[in-house]
Amino acid sequence: MNVHEFQAKQLLARYGVAVPKGKAVTSEAAATKWAAQLDSSIYAVKAQIHAGGRGLAGGVKLTKKRKEVGPLAKSLLGMNLVTHQTGPEGRKVRKVLIEEGVAIKKELYLSLLIDRRTGRPVFIACPEGGMDIEELAKTKPQAIHKEYIDPSSGLQAFHGRNLMLSMGLHVMGPQVAKSFMGLLGNLYRFFMEKDASQVEINPLVITEDQKLIALDAKVIFDDSALARHADVLKLRDLNEEEKLEIEASKHGLNYVKLDGTIGCMVNGAGLAMSTMDLIKLAGGEPANFLDVGGGASEETVKAAFKILLKDKKVKGIFVNIFGGIVRCERIAGGIIAAAKEMHVRVPIVVRLQGTNAEQGRELLDKSGLKLKATTDLWEGAQSVVELTSGPTKKGRAA
Ligand code: GDP
Ligand code: MN
Repeated sequence: MNVHEFQAKQLLARYGVAVPKGKAVTSEAAATKWAAQLDSSIYAVKAQIHAGGRGLAGGVKLTKKRKEVGPLAKSLLGMNLVTHQTGPEGRKVRKVLIEEGVAIKKELYLSLLIDRRTGRPVFIACPEGGMDIEELAKTKPQAIHKEYIDPSSGLQAFHGRNLMLSMGLHVMGPQVAKSFMGLLGNLYRFFMEKDASQVEINPLVITEDQKLIALDAKVIFDDSALARHADVLKLRDLNEEEKLEIEASKHGLNYVKLDGTIGCMVNGAGLAMSTMDLIKLAGGEPANFLDVGGGASEETVKAAFKILLKDKKVKGIFVNIFGGIVRCERIAGGIIAAAKEMHVRVPIVVRLQGTNAEQGRELLDKSGLKLKATTDLWEGAQSVVELTSGPTKKGRAA
């Protein structure tokens, strides 16, 4: 689960991380009022959306004039902000963070996340922080340092020294060095106690007066651990989440929206992954990952089908069910029930195999629905790609 920058900063501040004084507001009037309480020579007005790249996209404004804070907030509120992380559709700005600005001497990059390969927390550090770390990773990967932490012994002083050297902080004076060591400890404690999967401070800045401040903060929490963090769960912002994913979670469906055009309905995560692979192999692009689960009922299938049809990008649907625990005639019943309730505007290919597959296919045949039934997965994948985008260009892998 993602949270907003202002929420991440509030949480981190409780762990002793230095952040600028600020407040999130939803109106021009509130922005003006809060700015009056800040006594600063620079003010920052920052759009709050669950995406980075705001600086380059015009979502972060700085001003030296306090009276400009309100109008700047107004210009951002309600706008649709498109950054390289939002996709072309962008995100609507509903809140802005008004902060006391900071006089920056140097911008650094620091993050802490789980490294999947080693299964360990890893600090990632770079002396060149700021706006385009992704670009830097491509053009100058040697500038990025990784420090792996063994979770059984935790963060040690040598990790800190290595990170400090890699970021060039050892020449910045004792105050910066001391704050940096403290910061690492605070971030690590936060990360472990709150079951975060990522904490990214970009930029971490050294100010003209030698302070180390988290000027931006992005925190992602492990969804599987949210049950033990009621305080974190309260920060969830449904406006920032995919509508169809929220709808799917209400029905206990594992659904992830993707950018392609072929809607997939599959039982079992492994089969869903291989279905997506075969669609791609046949030259198509899956519109989603959807695992209806091992014990899918007619109701869940119906809900899943509706969700697929609600996605405007979907040009065809591929139902791929292997009946093990689930019985194929129930799946067929769900498809028929959903199709009766909704206008089906796209071709459907159904591959049913396993328990009662024959019965399921008979039901579909008799239903009068226009769909193509098959028993072969590869044939099904090719058919749905053909029906949505013409003949397949790619064949089976050479
Ligand atoms: P992001 O682009 O979405 O990651 O947004 P950031 O919060 O990282 O802001 C982008 C950039 O704006 C930073 O890298 C800074 O250069 C600049 N910035 C943000 N806040 C301040 C501030 O208080 N003072 C100054 N001088 N620059 C700031
Ligand atoms: Mn940033």
